[in-house]
Amino acid sequence: PKALLVYCRPGFEPDCAEEIADNASCDGSFERGDGWIVFTPSEKDPRALNSLVNKQLMFPRQVLLVHDRITLGGKDRLTPIVNSLKQIDSAFSDIWLEYPDTNDGKSLSSFCRKFGDYVAKAAAENNWLQPQRVRNRLHLFFPQQNEVFIASRPAKDTDWINGIPRLRMPVDAPSRSTLKLLEGILVLVDKPESKFREGMSAVDLGAAPGGWTYQLVSRGLKVFAVDNGPMKGSMDGHHQVKHIRDDGFKFKPKNPVEWLVCDMVEQPIRVAELMAKWFAAGNARRAIFNLKLPMKKRYLEVCKCFALIEAKLEKAGMSCKITAKHLYHDREEITVYLTVVKD
Ligand code: SAM
Repeated sequence: PKALLVYCRPGFEPDCAEEIADNASCDGSFERGDGWIVFTPSEKDPRALNSLVNKQLMFPRQVLLVHDRITLGGKDRLTPIVNSLKQIDSAFSDIWLEYPDTNDGKSLSSFCRKFGDYVAKAAAENNWLQPQRVRNRLHLFFPQQNEVFIASRPAKDTDWINGIPRLRMPVDAPSRSTLKLLEGILVLVDKPESKFREGMSAVDLGAAPGGWTYQLVSRGLKVFAVDNGPMKGSMDGHHQVKHIRDDGFKFKPKNPVEWLVCDMVEQPIRVAELMAKWFAAGNARRAIFNLKLPMKKRYLEVCKCFALIEAKLEKAGMSCKITAKHLYHDREEITVYLTVVKD
C-alpha cells in the first residue's frame, strides 16, 4: 500500500488531515474528497501507514490501506476489480462495499447492494474469503459509481459499514442524544460491562432531558442529574435518578462517584478545566464528556484542552488516559473518555 484512505463526517476533512499529519512519522500529501481524504506519505516505508491504521485517531471514522484505485469506464465494472485483486493475491475475512456519507454517496447504496452480489460470486470463485484464517477485511470504496478504491484493514469489533453505526433508539429514552453516549461507550470504553456496574454512582452535568442519564440508569447506576432544566419522560422522577437544579460548574458531590458525564453546551476549555478539577479533587474516576467545537481550528482546540487536563492532573500527582472520537452521533463536537491511570 502506498496511501491511506480515511472516512469522516463531511466538513471535517481538514481536521482529519491535521490529525493525520500530526501523527504520521513523515510528511506527505493530502487529497480532499467529500467525506473522505487520501494521505500519501513522501517516504515509501510501509510502517508509516501501518502505524496510522492501528492508531486510535479522533476525527477519522475509518482508516484503510489503499492497494489500488481504479476508474471504471466501461459497462463491466467487475472485471477491472477482479483483475486488481488478483494482483494483490490475498485472502480476506469479509468484503464491504462502501460510499461517502453525502447525498451523492447515499445514492450509491442500492448500486453497492446489487454489485455486492457480483463481488461475492467472484470472491467465492477465487477463494478470497477465509474468515477463519485471516483478520484483514477488504473495503471497496466508491467515491462515485465509476471509481473505486481497493483498500483493506485489520477488522475491529467497533468497525461499521461506511463508518456509521446503526444503533436502535430505545423507545423510552427521553432524547435522541442517548445514542451519543451509547456510541461513546461502545467505541471508547473497553469491556463496558466491567466499568458500569449496578449500584455505582454517577453525576450527569447538563443532564436534561435525560438521554445520557437513561444510558447510565439502564446499566444499573444511580445518577445525580444536574440541570436547571426539567428531566423528561422515563427519567422524570425515576427512582435511580436524583434531579438537582444547580449550575453544573458549581455543583459539588457529597461523595466521590465512579462516573462523571457532561454534555453542557459550553466553551471546550471550560469543560476541560471542570473535568480536571473533578479528577484532581478525587471526585470521579472515569468521565465521558463532549467538547463542542463550533470553531474553525477544531484539532488545535482539542489539543489545547487535552494539554490542560494533562497538566492539571500532573500537578495533582495523577496520570490520566484520554481517548476521544468524533462519533457518528456527534455533530460539531467530539466525545472524550478520561480515566485515571494507577501507577
Ligand atoms: N445529555 C442530555 C440528554 O441526553 O438528554 C442533553 C444535554 S443538552 C445538549 C445540554 C443541557 O445542558 C441543557 O439541558 C442545559 O440546560 C444544560 N446546561 C447548560 N449549561 C449548564 C450549566 N451551567 N449548568 C447546568 N446545566 C447546564
